[in-house]
Amino acid sequence: MKLSRVAVIGAGQMGNGIAQVFAQAGYQVTMIDIVPEAIDKGIATIEKSLGKFVEKGKISAEQKAAILGRISTSLSMEDAASAQFVVEAVVENADIKAKVFSKLDEVTAPDAILASNTSSISITKIAASTNRPDKVIGMHFMNPVPIMKLVEVVRGLATSDEVTGFVMNLAKELGKVPVEVNDFPGFVSNRILMPMINEAIFALQEGVASKEAIDTVMKLGMNHPMGPLTLADFIGLDTCLYIMEVLHRELGDDKYRPAPLLRKMVDAGYLGRKSGKGFYDYSK
Ligand code: NAD
Repeated sequence: MKLSRVAVIGAGQMGNGIAQVFAQAGYQVTMIDIVPEAIDKGIATIEKSLGKFVEKGKISAEQKAAILGRISTSLSMEDAASAQFVVEAVVENADIKAKVFSKLDEVTAPDAILASNTSSISITKIAASTNRPDKVIGMHFMNPVPIMKLVEVVRGLATSDEVTGFVMNLAKELGKVPVEVNDFPGFVSNRILMPMINEAIFALQEGVASKEAIDTVMKLGMNHPMGPLTLADFIGLDTCLYIMEVLHRELGDDKYRPAPLLRKMVDAGYLGRKSGKGFYDYSK
């Protein structure tokens, strides 16, 4: 398939990064959200990210302008109609994703490929809300998308070999390193990462150590680039909670129960960097 037009659904932390990398690779991208402020913030984030690439001499100011020129925005899902490839990056919620995929199935051409950036929700289940489960796949980018190399390519039960091969190649074309995995809760990345973050929150809740101490132990002791509580703030605490709930429910093992402190933080609206406060304060 010759790909020229891509749609990204969701302009949040992940959606704007995904739109940026596709535009950088030369594709025409329509970035769609239901919240106008999310679109404005998404475009501002892309401008800032490209600005840093210009400062570092990785791209020219002309290239920055051309990349931005390839991104259009919309508040209507109907504007995904002309895309041959769609990446969904809306909130981590199975019901919302099912509605989005059912709508995408309705508005896009029958041969368009529909990918989800979900961190943990079953691709097989998402695919079942469409009439083209063979063309539904997980394309799980890492945060921040323009920097991180990995893309987990997740095969649902019905995803075809052809579509999997296409997405593996596409990820390489975007300058990423794709890894093929099967559809199990949390895939590989979050099956391993999230229980570690959750355990760090339990440790904080139980008073094992301060947040700074927990992060320093993991940073300096395990050579992680940032501590687990800092990383949780970066990912978004609502996303972390949702992933733990998926692991707990779908794998049926209490070792995956979300830490009560994580739930309390989300209830309070402390979602991490994106809300200005999480385990740490980002209001300044
Ligand atoms: P976010 O909260 O920053 O952005 C989600 C966006 O989706 C918001 O702008 C919201 O307005 C929009 N939205 C909600 N419902 C919509 C709808 N029906 N149609 C269009 N837009 C809608 O969340 P995020 O961190 O960007 O996460 C998005 C997805 O990426 C989730 O599935 C998440 O699990 C996954 N993911 C997140 C990370 C991370 O580190 N944050 C990493 C990998 C994957």
